[in-house]
Amino acid sequence: MLSRTLVDDHLVRLELGGPGLAGFASTGIPDEWVGLVVPGQFQSRYYTVRAWDGSRLVLDVVLHPSGLVTQWAVGDCVGDEVTIQDAQGSFSAAVDAPWVWLVGDLTALPAMARIAESLPPGVDLRVWAEAPAPIPGYFPEALTASGALTWLTAELEGSGLASVVESLTWPSGAGHFWMAGESAQMRAIRRHLMHDLADASFTHDVMGYWRHAARAPRRAADPGPVYRAGKAAGKSDAEIWADYDAQRD
Ligand SMILES: Cc1cc2nc3c(=O)[nH]c(=O)nc-3n(C[C@H](O)[C@H](O)[C@H](O)COP(=O)(O)OP(=O)(O)OC[C@H]3O[C@@H](n4cnc5c(N)ncnc54)[C@H](O)[C@@H]3O)c2cc1C
Repeated sequence: MLSRTLVDDHLVRLELGGPGLAGFASTGIPDEWVGLVVPGQFQSRYYTVRAWDGSRLVLDVVLHPSGLVTQWAVGDCVGDEVTIQDAQGSFSAAVDAPWVWLVGDLTALPAMARIAESLPPGVDLRVWAEAPAPIPGYFPEALTASGALTWLTAELEGSGLASVVESLTWPSGAGHFWMAGESAQMRAIRRHLMHDLADASFTHDVMGYWRHAARAPRRAADPGPVYRAGKAAGKSDAEIWADYDAQRD
């Protein structure tokens, strides 16, 4: 671990480097994630590659009340050796998608920011980001300047991201919707997409990134093999992420 910087009270940026990363292969898919195993642990947790420049890997880690990685990242972890597992990605927008809408909570900010940076000019990009408070400078400035970025803060309490998405008026025509965050919210949105928007012409990725304590899994499931097996079986991304949720029940 090369450095640790607070992005916000709830988010810490970790920069990893060293010879151990020599063989790291980025997929180039902008929501790619890696498994991270921290010192003294054997279970991995999944984190989005916020940036990779060929030698340094940047992860933005949410500091929530307790957790294997959180407990480690909250302290002075600079100099520690960690294990990074292979990168996998899921973002599946067509290269010529005219619009891309992104919705997510704190854990999804790294992926949403990297997707925003990766899209070609001219795409109608909108982002709804749930956070305790806005984080100035986290997204490309143009997004803020154009009014395409909405921070969802206190007003969300008790309703959740799912209700925000259910109230959206969707653009017509092809496009792509990407969403990640707490699993129960994501399941609600998959149902909404399947039942209320079954005829919509846009594609989507909806991913459960974490689960509330009351529904916490006994074991973490690795999204990588689930994703590869689903793709090999010809499943849609929605079906694959539903499989992933089911494995964690
Ligand atoms: C593909 C993918 C990409 C991800 N990318 C990121 C990322 O870039 N940054 C990031 O911070 N997270 C990301 N996550 C989510 C992260 O893997 C989980 O939040 C993970 O559980 C955190 O591990 P932990 O060791 O801190 O907590 P755990 O030991 O897994 O959990 C301990 C307790 O904390 C609760 N908990 C877990 N996560 C949260 C949370 N976010 N908020 C509140 N309570 C929580 C659990 O319910 C549990 O009770 C991603 C997940 C996936 C599947």
